[in-house]
Amino acid sequence: MTSYRSYTAANIHELPQYDSIPEEQIRAIRTVARVYPFRVNSHVAEHLIDWSNIPDDPLFRLSFPQAEMLSEDDYGTLSALLTQGAPAEAVSAAVREIQFRQNPNPAGQKELNTPSLDGEPLHGMQHKYRESVLFFPLEAQVCHAYCTYCFRWPQFSGLENLRFQDDSVTRLVGYLRLHPEVRDVIFTGGDPMVMPSETLASYIRPLLQVPTLKTIRIGTKALSWWPLRFVAEPDNDALLALFEEIVGSGRQLALMAHISHPRELENPLAETAVRRIRSTGAVIRSQSPVVRHINDDAGTWEAMWQKQLQLGIIPYYMFLERDTGPKEYFAVPLVEALGIFNRAYRRMSGLGRTVRGPSMSCSPGKVAVDGIAEVGGQKVFVLKFIQGRNSDWVGRVFFARYDADATWIDDLVPAFGDEPFFFEAELRRLSGS
Ligand code: SF4
Repeated sequence: MTSYRSYTAANIHELPQYDSIPEEQIRAIRTVARVYPFRVNSHVAEHLIDWSNIPDDPLFRLSFPQAEMLSEDDYGTLSALLTQGAPAEAVSAAVREIQFRQNPNPAGQKELNTPSLDGEPLHGMQHKYRESVLFFPLEAQVCHAYCTYCFRWPQFSGLENLRFQDDSVTRLVGYLRLHPEVRDVIFTGGDPMVMPSETLASYIRPLLQVPTLKTIRIGTKALSWWPLRFVAEPDNDALLALFEEIVGSGRQLALMAHISHPRELENPLAETAVRRIRSTGAVIRSQSPVVRHINDDAGTWEAMWQKQLQLGIIPYYMFLERDTGPKEYFAVPLVEALGIFNRAYRRMSGLGRTVRGPSMSCSPGKVAVDGIAEVGGQKVFVLKFIQGRNSDWVGRVFFARYDADATWIDDLVPAFGDEPFFFEAELRRLSGS
């Protein structure tokens, strides 16, 4: 059985597979990790990464920072400071300067999504969509391993004013009692599955006393990064009993599993974890962005969704890489993402067509790229709101001029004239700008 060990830039030399990583790659990892910290554990190293294919292996690129994640200039600056043995303050200043240029607060999360109770902002919650609230437990600020494309990199980098965290479920319950329209609470982080079962229970049990709450979701990558959490940790039985208790209360418990590559599920530990979770009555839904170097081909998505269906996981979302951090390295143009989605989707039976996307989780809402069409002689993207900051936007279709290079909604302009998109004025009003 794999015992838990975690590797970061500080102890990468202790990784048993250290000698498989070329020296130049090690230098790049140590340099880029100053900006985007990495964390890999023994399960990832022993069961997921193909060490005979470094650096191209997708699971290696998903786990270890790459030189190209920084611009050439930034990499050069940082690399020179480190090589010259510059004082720690000078290195930190350069790192912070680079980090603050990487859009660390995408989609205005901090300003637009933070709710308040009794006039006080609730910094451990986000309420963007009418029916659902995100909650960030204080003890879930890390993950079992970090994904190199993670949009929550500012939390791991210690950018204090960009953290979301709360240790009080009392505030969450108070908020839910004032907002009966909220049906879902989504536990997120980091990864809530890093918490001991007792801590997770202390957050969840009070919620079971809120009759208007119908669904509890837990966003997690533990199925991939540390499936032993559900199989062989001392308190895994307590965890599964908690899941049963939630289901027994008449609510749906959904594990929102972040799965980026089929290999993450192709091991007996992950399969056992899925079986154990499902035996509690919880459902597992899967989501991931489509990202360059890791899963940017239809065959990978088809294999991933097929494996999920076989195990009883419901394919839920294909996202587009968010406009933060090393976006340039990972982003896939909208047109290419749509092609990948469609080719994989066409190979699925009806059961697999539960998946939605490719979708942008952006400031106005979740916007899916539904297709490309020619209307009145103009080639356009057909876009659709799956979720909206204003719920009246949900289901609305709108059009943008076709752009082969666009990777995000900010790159798009409305089709058929120079009017702004229909939601822009209201979005500005909601933003107070
Ligand atoms: S599991 Fe999610 S929150 Fe954790 S590092 Fe990966 S993308 Fe980020």
